[in-house]
Amino acid sequence: MSDPKPTILNFINGQYRTGSGKLFDDIDPVTGHRVAQVSEAGRSDVDAAVKAARAALDGPWGKLTLAQRADMLYAIAAAIDRRAKDFLAAEIADTGKPYKLASHLDIPRGAANFRVFADAVRNVPTECFTMTAPDGQPGLNYALRRPKGVIAVVCPWNLPLLLMTWKVAPALACGNTVIVKPSEETPATAALLGEVMNEVGVPPGVYNVVHGFGPGSAGEFLTTHPGVDAITFTGETRTGAAIIKAAADGIKPVSMELGGKNPAIVFADANLDVVAAGLARSVFENTGQVCLGTERVYVERPVFDAVVQKLADAAKALRPGASGDIAANWGPLISREHQQKVLSYYALAREEGAHAVCGGGVPDMPEALRGGAWIEPTVWTGLPQTARVVQEEIFGPCCHVMPFDTEEEALRLAGDTPYGLAASVYTRDINRAHRVASKLKVGVAWVNTWFLRDLRTAFGGSGMSGIGREGGVHSLEFYTELSNVCIKLEGAPA
Ligand code: NAD
Repeated sequence: MSDPKPTILNFINGQYRTGSGKLFDDIDPVTGHRVAQVSEAGRSDVDAAVKAARAALDGPWGKLTLAQRADMLYAIAAAIDRRAKDFLAAEIADTGKPYKLASHLDIPRGAANFRVFADAVRNVPTECFTMTAPDGQPGLNYALRRPKGVIAVVCPWNLPLLLMTWKVAPALACGNTVIVKPSEETPATAALLGEVMNEVGVPPGVYNVVHGFGPGSAGEFLTTHPGVDAITFTGETRTGAAIIKAAADGIKPVSMELGGKNPAIVFADANLDVVAAGLARSVFENTGQVCLGTERVYVERPVFDAVVQKLADAAKALRPGASGDIAANWGPLISREHQQKVLSYYALAREEGAHAVCGGGVPDMPEALRGGAWIEPTVWTGLPQTARVVQEEIFGPCCHVMPFDTEEEALRLAGDTPYGLAASVYTRDINRAHRVASKLKVGVAWVNTWFLRDLRTAFGGSGMSGIGREGGVHSLEFYTELSNVCIKLEGAPA
């Protein structure tokens, strides 16, 4: 694998540029060492990116046909595949993910997003009605889709390329131009994608990247910029609220994919091997840093002990190590700062009276890795539903397991947080599966599985988990503006 670039630059109008802000460190969470420096964009750089994005919209990009844009998206996907090793190296250096996870999920999905939306945009329908005017003459009403314009794409660090392209691909497919603000923790793959854009001939200004932080930095400069037409955001609920307030002044459309505190409900009739495999992934994958991950498990009392044991066994099978270590299947958290946040919840769980079935601390790592953001996978029991550890998003590899006695009780407990992102249900009773799934107030409900989704379907959260849906035609709704054209014809009544 090639080394990531030592200084990660902003990408504006097809060129890599040093920003007017400071240089900040990009830290490898495996070791705690710096892997690169990042050039922060100042207000003037964000201005330049918005100007370039607007010019591209009104220039060469705006003149492409839908089919030409779709072809360009296929070319981007193919180029990501060709350069998969570079993207892998960059993503792993930023996140410390195990090689297997990044090579099976993050990078291929980054490419797939461009293919999926190239297909989707070719098939998007609009409406058309014939009508009769008051004088009896025929009329025709139809809707045209046009791009929304310059889109700000503000991204988190947990699945950097995957979640960024999930928004960039549909935005470009619909003819918009974008300015991406990747997380300050994971700037590398967004920057690298600029090379791909140039390689396949995407006109300058269509794809721009500005690096930095939130308040007082590139995130704020971008989301408050009057030249931005819409904002799509993935991240914490509190940050989402701040961006919605900023967007309100400019009456800007927002799409918000926010936090969660997702439940899993296990009924006694479930196949416990399926439960164990599903929960092992939904609680621990990506070291628990998945918005859709499970942090609350409700288990029907007869199988409670068995499920707790299986979860603890799954936790004990995880081997922490650097991504080059073939035996390792467990990466660190994203940063020492996030490690401190997760550890504060581990301490809170102890204060609230939880029983730690396993984990609860920091694993003993070899000397070379001790500066990394390592954490133990953790399973608790014994807390009431009102405990903060049961109510608040931790975004770590941990869950609380609680018994229940009736379906009604399980549904009540599962719905008892302000969030509404995802839930999983484990049962072999098909009627119960439908019934429970239909009553869960979440954006996505899985039955006997987790993180399995056709990308054409709707994705998003309710309550404090977000506003709007993306995926397939739902993304195309957000990234286009509908214009209603009404034509009065002359001739025979319709
Ligand atoms: P975060 O909210 O801290 O940061 C996300 C991005 O917002 C970063 O690029 C950051 O620099 C920027 N930002 C921060 N403050 C800002 C401001 N005031 N104005 C403009 N930009 C600002 O989130 P994170 O810690 O990077 O990611 C973890 C969170 O993301 C978790 O809460 C997780 O649940 C959520 N998440 C949700 C989904 C989903 O689809 N619902 C997916 C992944 C992650």
